[in-house]
Amino acid sequence: MGCCGDAPRMEVKCGVENCHYNKSRMCHADSLEVNAMGDGKAETSDGTCCTTFKSNK
Ligand code: SF4
Repeated sequence: MGCCGDAPRMEVKCGVENCHYNKSRMCHADSLEVNAMGDGKAETSDGTCCTTFKSNK
């Protein structure tokens, strides 16, 4: 079975349903960028945010 090419690939489940890339609570963006919020050092998952988010409005 194929595993572990040079580029990581994963399924991204996402509950942000008003995002342009969200279909049926899955992320369909070609690539995804997540960064720390605020002072740039996340302490918990609450301190992270999806930079790729784009409103579908
Ligand atoms: S881009 Fe971010 S917010 Fe939008 S569906 Fe993907 S993971 Fe969710």
